Amino acid sequence: MNIYERLGIRTVINGNATLTRLGGSIMPTEVVSAMADASKHFVDIIELQKRVGEEIAKLTHNEAAYVSCGAAAALTLSTAACITGLDATKREKLPHLDTSMKNEVIVHRHGRVGYDFAVRQVGVTFVEIGDEKGTSPDELENAITEKTAAIFYFANPGREHLWVSYEKAIAIAKRYNVPLIVDAAAQLPPPENLWRFTQMGADLALFSGGKGLCGPQSSGLIVGKASLIEAIAFNGPPHPFIGRGMKVGKEEMVGLLAAVEWYVNQDHVELQQSYEGQVTYYDEVFAEIQGVTVHRSFPSEAGQPMPRTEIRFDEEHLGITRTEILQQLAEGEPSIDIAGAGANGVLINGQTLMPGEVEVIAHRLKEILGNTR
Ligand SMILES: *Cc1c(COP(=O)(O)O)cnc(C)c1O
Repeated sequence: MNIYERLGIRTVINGNATLTRLGGSIMPTEVVSAMADASKHFVDIIELQKRVGEEIAKLTHNEAAYVSCGAAAALTLSTAACITGLDATKREKLPHLDTSMKNEVIVHRHGRVGYDFAVRQVGVTFVEIGDEKGTSPDELENAITEKTAAIFYFANPGREHLWVSYEKAIAIAKRYNVPLIVDAAAQLPPPENLWRFTQMGADLALFSGGKGLCGPQSSGLIVGKASLIEAIAFNGPPHPFIGRGMKVGKEEMVGLLAAVEWYVNQDHVELQQSYEGQVTYYDEVFAEIQGVTVHRSFPSEAGQPMPRTEIRFDEEHLGITRTEILQQLAEGEPSIDIAGAGANGVLINGQTLMPGEVEVIAHRLKEILGNTR
């Protein structure tokens, strides 16, 4: 009996995405055993964070790195770092900013995401730039004041055409000495993103540990400038300030290091081919079934260069709606979670599927469609 059976909880086949509500991602054994190793001894946690950061920085071609307890915590801590630097008086005041402190963060109006609460919780106000037609570099430049703590980008290749380009924004940010931070939580693959933003000149780039990296679900990764990483550690746990509730265990630190090591050493070309192979597989499985068409959907919802399988249903011909199909998949045995697409389609994402699950999903879908006729 596994732990979930003992608890009376059904496990889910995740063909949707690296969703927090489903558990993020599945850690490879290398990560799990590194965490088990770490769990056996006491250690100086500040020293461990530093050493793990050095190793991850090397692996990702960055000046420095830090393990947070998720990308959302990374957003909070990096905002705090931009405001306080290494000033203990300012650190103690957060999130109540006084007139001596920077209190504005610049974001694109059409770049905002729900996660940006994690920036605002430090007490800053957003200064929004741009509209549905785009954003001019002048708008960014004019938005910068002596109160600007940082410029945040929430990376999403599908929206970037509406924003000031990274190159131009980074040049402006440098001219005014304002940090530019890229939240790239879900932007793996491609693995090069671990260094692409910072090599372009962004001060920090932030990633989820529990998404593409397949690290501990409650981990996140910050890479970039050493001085900012130092200010992040200054605000972070175990210090009893804004980051104290964002504790990172020794197991997560070591686990994320193992995950980064594992991830950069994956054969990413082969992984891409396996996702393409899944699209071809579904295409063949459903070729003979009337009222079902299979398409290659590219890129992913987050804009990752990764194909997904889109299956569209002719509801009238099949006598079942896609909402009913999704419900039967979720409630059936085993429980399957995939995303809806448009009014009559579903999307299957290979990134979170374990060996054999592609076939299970195809089998269940055929079963559901077969029972309607
Ligand atoms: C998932 C996500 C986050 C939050 O990441 P966690 O690691 O779950 O805290 C933040 N920003 C973006 C853009 C995300 O996609």
